Amino acid sequence: MYSANFDYVRAESIDQAVELLSTHPHARLLAGGHSLIPALKFRLENPELLIDIGRLEDLKGITSTTSRVNIGALTTHAEIAASDALPAGLRDAASMVGDPQVRNWGTIGGNISHADPASDLPTILVALGAKIMLTDMKGSRIVPAASFFEGFFETAKNKDELVLSIEVPNTGISAYEKMPNPASGYCMVGAGVMLKVENGVCSSASVAVGGLTPGPRRCPSVEAALVGKALDADTLSAAAKAVENDLGDDLLGDMHASEEYRKAMASVYMKRALMKAAARA
Ligand SMILES: Cc1cc2nc3c(=O)[nH]c(=O)nc-3n(C[C@H](O)[C@H](O)[C@H](O)COP(=O)(O)OP(=O)(O)OC[C@H]3O[C@@H](n4cnc5c(N)ncnc54)[C@H](O)[C@@H]3O)c2cc1C
Repeated sequence: MYSANFDYVRAESIDQAVELLSTHPHARLLAGGHSLIPALKFRLENPELLIDIGRLEDLKGITSTTSRVNIGALTTHAEIAASDALPAGLRDAASMVGDPQVRNWGTIGGNISHADPASDLPTILVALGAKIMLTDMKGSRIVPAASFFEGFFETAKNKDELVLSIEVPNTGISAYEKMPNPASGYCMVGAGVMLKVENGVCSSASVAVGGLTPGPRRCPSVEAALVGKALDADTLSAAAKAVENDLGDDLLGDMHASEEYRKAMASVYMKRALMKAAARA
């Protein structure tokens, strides 16, 4: 199927892109195009204008300070997967996105703006306590990942805002595991974990699930089952099982995997993520 007609502008600067967004309420930014182009072809999106930000160098790349790492919105999944500067859990998630073509074109800014429940990056970004930097004509603001993802393809980003970058901590031990759709690679169940371990005991835990919920979801029951404990096999099994208390009653299911099956798999993939993080500790 072909998309409806639209105008096209290649933005020369972030300021120009933001100005065009503010003056064209039915415009869309084009980054890697791996979610937007299919949506245009299925006519799920019919923008009047595409603002191509794909060549804006200021939105690319990874920079580190002592405690945090800043990832430009146009950084690709492949670049994230290959970066030693980033938390291992984020690299896990980026390396599991789709296939090499998707990883070489798809960007972190496009991934989180699209907020597909079957995406991988939102879940690990919530577990990591990431912050999303947004800008529009009025200025910039920072939104914690936990409040950025509001639900099924819904975010806290306003239509005239552009994602500048994503900031993640570079402390802690993290891991991500997923049950992929065997055809597309999209996530059907994903588990992201960030732990701190002192003298063999878990001193803090931040855990999230996604893929089977409308948006990524923090897992306070799993976290409570980890903190203050040695990360032995019994603790990890009990913590993984506790994810069932955190899933809620709005689980997603489809022809690839029913809600019951995904629910049953949540503790399996949570245990794999916890075991991976514990092994890294
Ligand atoms: C076959 C296939 C398999 C895939 N498998 C997976 C998978 O396993 N896991 C996974 O997580 N994802 C998967 N994806 C999605 C992939 O990660 C996309 O690349 C990503 O979700 C969108 O990034 P993009 O750069 O292509 O964005 P685009 O498609 O260009 O844009 C997507 C949306 O975000 C908006 N946008 C883009 N950049 C910005 C910005 N800087 N600020 C504000 N809004 C912006 C656009 O206007 C648009 O609405 C898959 C895609 C395909 C086609």
